[in-house]
Amino acid sequence: MTGRILVVDDMEPNIRVLSAKLEAEYYEVLTANSGATAIMMAREQRPDLILLDVMMPQMDGFETCRRLKADPITQHIPVVMVTALDQQTDRVDGLQAGADDFLSKPIDDIALFARVRSLLRLNSVMDELRSHLNNGQGTDATNKLMALSKQTGGKVLVVEESERFGNRIAEKLGKSFSCQITTDPKVASTIAATGFDLILINLATDLFDGLRLCARLRADEATRQLPILCMVDAQAKDRSVRALDLGANDILERPVDRHELRARCQTLLQRRVYAAQLRENIDLSLEMAFSDQLTGLFNRRHLDIKLEELQVRFNDNKEPSVVLIADIDHFKQVNDTWGHVAGDMVLQQLADIMCESFRAIDIICRYGGEEFVVLMPDASLDSAKSAAERFRQVIAATSFDIGQAKEPIRISVSGGLAALQAEQSAKQILSRADAALYHAKKNGRNQMIAAISSKKDTKLTG
Ligand code: GH3
Ligand code: MG
Ligand code: MG
Repeated sequence: MTGRILVVDDMEPNIRVLSAKLEAEYYEVLTANSGATAIMMAREQRPDLILLDVMMPQMDGFETCRRLKADPITQHIPVVMVTALDQQTDRVDGLQAGADDFLSKPIDDIALFARVRSLLRLNSVMDELRSHLNNGQGTDATNKLMALSKQTGGKVLVVEESERFGNRIAEKLGKSFSCQITTDPKVASTIAATGFDLILINLATDLFDGLRLCARLRADEATRQLPILCMVDAQAKDRSVRALDLGANDILERPVDRHELRARCQTLLQRRVYAAQLRENIDLSLEMAFSDQLTGLFNRRHLDIKLEELQVRFNDNKEPSVVLIADIDHFKQVNDTWGHVAGDMVLQQLADIMCESFRAIDIICRYGGEEFVVLMPDASLDSAKSAAERFRQVIAATSFDIGQAKEPIRISVSGGLAALQAEQSAKQILSRADAALYHAKKNGRNQMIAAISSKKDTKLTG
């Protein structure tokens, strides 16, 4: 995966070395020699990743990171802090400033590229989620999500070589995390999908193959999104690299420092909440794309798709289906007499009645203004007629509430039905139903008429 990486360091030679390494791997490199320049460039150029030196005059790496993570424009960009010494306190300070990862100088190439690849992959998934969402709702929504996701604590599954080691990790995590410990990776992969927020795996043991467990968790649909944090020995760089490539989200070096452990778990959990909320919002915007705002029924777009599907099913296995178009009688008068708000209330109540009147498998859509379409899969014309007639009677007998201080009103509906026929397009079926509806209107309204064939219609009631 290629990407644009911003390298920030106050020492020119450091920048040159790091740039050369990254460019050799075909990454596009931007450079900045101070925190202030880095912030400006991040805002303007939107890199996919930032490699940030900790020790810089004026604004140090921690402060730079804090500012990047506080700015809605740059807060999504992953930041890797580059520390001169392998200082645990630096790591904790960095994580608290919002850094996503660390590298220590001198930079090990393999570790560098593994970190870069894994963060770029994460970033591109998040970017995709965000862009789906932004298509509908603007960046405000994502920023709100970001703020919402600052939750603490969670349920952690610890996979360790012994109960005792597991308990030690649990103790280090502290009270805001609730831990379950297992020493068996098979058990771990079975229970991982049962409500855990995070899984911690020891990769530094010979008692089980932690890498295989990572692979299995990523292959299984139910655990694909579960954050994985692996614990490795500092010298086992190749294992860290393998783990990150297999989809582990983060690496923690042993012996495990409690502050770093908590900070890394916290970051992973926040990202998880954030991603889950993004996904939920996308589901919501998809739902909005297929539903009618006023009534909550399906809209015309959904109707078109479903009717096509039914037609295909009819052509393939002659599964009968019926289409009903129902239209409120003299609805214009409701608006003219009682106002548009009253009209809207009638439409909403009618929609509710429709949902109760038809079967759960029927697809009820608002076709336009005061016209509704019901798709009745797997229904004969006779049974569809009975359902439509029952619906008509309920409407005729219902008092519609049009607001306080106004008497409820009565309305009626007319409808036209058409069964699916071979070699007819969705459009032709709808126009047959529409023609039947037209007859119902002409015949005096408050009635349902079925089109028996393309030519002849039958009146059900008068
Ligand atoms: P007919 O019995 O022939 O169907 O007469 P009608 O008055 O129901 O039909 P017409 O097509 O003349 O008028 C439909 C009315 O529905 C006009 C329009 O203002 C109203 N309408 C359409 N959409 C909405 C809506 O979302 N809310 C409200 N309140 N009224 C709507
Ligand atoms: Mg009407
Ligand atoms: Mg109309």
